[in-house]
Amino acid sequence: MSAYLSKRLLTLKPYTPGEQPTDKKYIKLNTNESPFPPSPKVAEAINREAVEDLRLYSDPDLKALTGTIASTLGVPRECVFCGNGSDEVLCFSFLAWGSEGAAYPDISYGFYPVFAGLCGIKSSVFPLSPDFQINLEDYDGFKGLIVFANPNAPTGLFVEVEKIRTLAENNPQSVIIVDEAYVDFGAESALPLIFDYKNVVVVRTFSKSRQLAGARLGFALADSELINDLNRVKFSFNPYNVNRLTAIAGEQAMLDADYFESCRAKIISTRERLKCELSRLGFAFTDSTANFVFASHPGISGRRLYEALKDRRILVRHFPAERIDNYVRITIGTEAETDVLISALSDILKEAGL
Ligand SMILES: *Cc1c(COP(=O)(O)O)cnc(C)c1O
Repeated sequence: MSAYLSKRLLTLKPYTPGEQPTDKKYIKLNTNESPFPPSPKVAEAINREAVEDLRLYSDPDLKALTGTIASTLGVPRECVFCGNGSDEVLCFSFLAWGSEGAAYPDISYGFYPVFAGLCGIKSSVFPLSPDFQINLEDYDGFKGLIVFANPNAPTGLFVEVEKIRTLAENNPQSVIIVDEAYVDFGAESALPLIFDYKNVVVVRTFSKSRQLAGARLGFALADSELINDLNRVKFSFNPYNVNRLTAIAGEQAMLDADYFESCRAKIISTRERLKCELSRLGFAFTDSTANFVFASHPGISGRRLYEALKDRRILVRHFPAERIDNYVRITIGTEAETDVLISALSDILKEAGL
């Protein structure tokens, strides 16, 4: 740190991303990316002409991309906002609606406290129940921004949309952000609520279920007045926040419904198979509806498990935090990767005499 750093940033603890090895030595099950490549339509559309067009700025209104998202999901275009990853959408949300503070669960996406710190917003942290459920009643009467992931990360558990409806209904003073990064893997979406409530924002990403983590693209769906607020932030920061190639990739990924369906069906079936195998091996795990499982074993610590898998060239995520220290989060890979994972786990347990 230099002596010039703004005071507010001195105590800020930046986000620690999962490891991104630059070689391909590892089976990578640590950052919830897709094990599949993007739709073949993406590679076709990123052609020479698209590259030559890079001399021009991207469309600040992203008309084609937001139009494609809108028509695919059945919402008006005025209800769509795109960002450079949903991380940017979330950060803009904290800036737009967080002046009275931000509330989120103790165990959730690790970026929420970082955004609050960066934006100088006071955090209120509400603990999950002992079985890792979000109690939305805890947030009743809170005056600022409310944000949670649904399904939650790293637990994979979701709260029913009817409970989110009640929260929105009872708390018109707060903007409620439902971070649906993992919703495509089997949970119910809160999207219908944006038509009934002017304080609900659904945030989604192309990173997990549309194979475009490296392109950086996320979006918000909400009443048009809230979308205008996000645009107010964007046009005060970077009007060209989504680059041309990413906008093209995003449109194609949205349009290829068959590819999207087949990838998510594979992830869901592999996840359920992995759950069966984990039970057989004596693991405890949450009933995840995301593209990962969150598992612990009574005979071996989360850290040891992480290290033993890494020794076998399999990367998973371990969070050295209270209450979840004994767990690892394992992204769902291909069927073949899952076979390797299962045999590695079974070897590790054998070696530990379990
Ligand atoms: C991965 C993830 C994001 C970030 O997604 P990007 O679009 O890649 O920035 C946001 N929220 C949650 C809960 C996530 O797991």
